[in-house]
Amino acid sequence: MSPPPISVSSTPISIERVTESRLPQVDLANVAFGRVYSDHMLSARCCDGVWEDPRIVPFGDLALHPATAVLHYAQAIFEGMKAHLTDDGVPVLFRPEENWRRMNRSARRMVMAEIPEEIFLGGIRELVRLDRDWIPPNRFGSLYIRPFLFAADPYIGVSPSREYRFHIMTAPVGAYYEGSVSLYVTRKWIRAAEGGIGEAKAAGNYSASYYGMKEAREHGCDNVLWLDSKQHRFIEECGTMNMMFVIGDRVVTPPLGGTILPGVTRDSAIRLLRDQMGTGVDERPVSIEEVAEASADGSLRECFGVGTAAVVTPVARLTGGGVEVRLPEDTPVQDELRERLTSIRLGRSPDPYGWVDRLL
Ligand SMILES: *Cc1c(COP(=O)(O)O)cnc(C)c1O
Repeated sequence: MSPPPISVSSTPISIERVTESRLPQVDLANVAFGRVYSDHMLSARCCDGVWEDPRIVPFGDLALHPATAVLHYAQAIFEGMKAHLTDDGVPVLFRPEENWRRMNRSARRMVMAEIPEEIFLGGIRELVRLDRDWIPPNRFGSLYIRPFLFAADPYIGVSPSREYRFHIMTAPVGAYYEGSVSLYVTRKWIRAAEGGIGEAKAAGNYSASYYGMKEAREHGCDNVLWLDSKQHRFIEECGTMNMMFVIGDRVVTPPLGGTILPGVTRDSAIRLLRDQMGTGVDERPVSIEEVAEASADGSLRECFGVGTAAVVTPVARLTGGGVEVRLPEDTPVQDELRERLTSIRLGRSPDPYGWVDRLL
């Protein structure tokens, strides 16, 4: 017998539960990233601007017509966030409404249907509650949440779709590799250009970066440090992380200007650095030459990336494009920032900004 449909605000999300959970076959202490998904997923569709049929169903394959527009022209966007368990076992989300807002900014940029709050946030909360046993204990990791929206018309004409499908899936993931990364500086390949889709979390941004990533790996680096598309000098971001540098006693980070993905972690980090750590933060263009010079004169103290996946990731080395920079091993600013972000997120320290969403 299935439980009655729940009604989230005006849009009811119906729930069809699995008959048997797959959880007993999963070792939450040892999951490979992105290979294992939890029991349920959300599905909804929007036709000609009208959302219909949001439902939570057993996780499973999607059936798609070969002409489905997204498969040809990549009109697709996504989000990425995590649910954690607090020490007393309550599932928590971190600033999920920021992901909802960003998803809809991406949707507008890609001429796609915007997603109602009840379906995006209501759906995430319901899914996480339903699959809460899939959230690994903190020492092992968290539950990664992946909402995504794609153009679903079975039509290969070059135009925005009339139908969009939205799904949310969740996956237990291990604690991210806690080590430093080395980044490859390229003056040739770019991630995004002014007027393009760099500030949207659009699928095409990632496939466009694979070639540079391949070259980075061939040079023994973990990822690319992207530079601006015109002068190939100013630092943009890296992989799925925004970049921060400690130069002298200030933190410097590239400004949001259309080509950079506005990270929720970036925004949170800037606030904590300023309000709680008393560290000045400059959002201003920073060139790779400035970083190399600061390294040479000893004022470059730290370099790190910030993003949902790894929270705060230390950078050990920048190489390529005529630059060779090694970062000091002592990293007090990022260590304190990571600790503060993590403890707010897990409900271990006060949450003055109301960032934590407890799913009681
Ligand atoms: C998602 C993402 C980030 C980080 O955003 P968060 O909201 O902090 O996870 C940074 N850069 C790119 C390209 C991204 O896709």
